[in-house]
Amino acid sequence: MKKFTLLNLVLFLVVSVSAQMKPQSTEWYYPQPPKVTPGADKNQPPSDAIILFDGKDLSKWVTTKGEEAKWKAENGQMIVVPGTGDMCTKEYFGDCQLHIEFKSPAPENHHGQNRGNSGIFLQSTYEVQVLDADNNPTYVNGMVGSIYKQQAPNVDAYTKNGEWQIYDIYWKAPVFGTDGKLETPAMITVVLNGILVQNNFILKGDTPYIGFPKYEAHGRLPLKLQDHGTGVAFRNIWIRNL
Ligand code: MG
Repeated sequence: MKKFTLLNLVLFLVVSVSAQMKPQSTEWYYPQPPKVTPGADKNQPPSDAIILFDGKDLSKWVTTKGEEAKWKAENGQMIVVPGTGDMCTKEYFGDCQLHIEFKSPAPENHHGQNRGNSGIFLQSTYEVQVLDADNNPTYVNGMVGSIYKQQAPNVDAYTKNGEWQIYDIYWKAPVFGTDGKLETPAMITVVLNGILVQNNFILKGDTPYIGFPKYEAHGRLPLKLQDHGTGVAFRNIWIRNL
């Protein structure tokens, strides 16, 4: 009975305070969000983006050993040269918004995971799969739009081989304590060709080919693109620190 009375009292106070409030009581004007100007075209970088590939050169990229980037930059594209290894950004990133476009090479006689495979590794560790999904069955947690071996995409949003595919990725980095223990897991939202394929997916750890995911403490790390043996092309790569 006492509890019920107390609850009634709290409700009465809330209702009374709300009744006396003005609309302005719940509006604020500061701090002002910074002004960011969108790109002229919807896919072009906004004013506060870091351009990672502008179609001209690979000056923002190095090999995983820190050597000069070995992929090709031609016709406005950054193209995987099979056998030269993965490429990393010189800059390190944490929470970010990433825009990246890719095009699968001609299928030739490749199938499944061998057809147009590459990957976008957030913080060099967590792979959003890049794969040709044009009439190319494979395990669904390894298809385009998947978080590799963790989560299949909600839908297959790939169009056709030979067409540019557009990824927009929203990344919340994992947080580790000073003791190295995981405090908050990574979370990702992925949009492919304007269609949501991963909706605030909480990662279980890294994305290994063999074995189960696990976390190991790290801070900001480069963005990494995968050389998986096929000449996947990328273009219009930009990122915003969040
Ligand atoms: Mg891959």
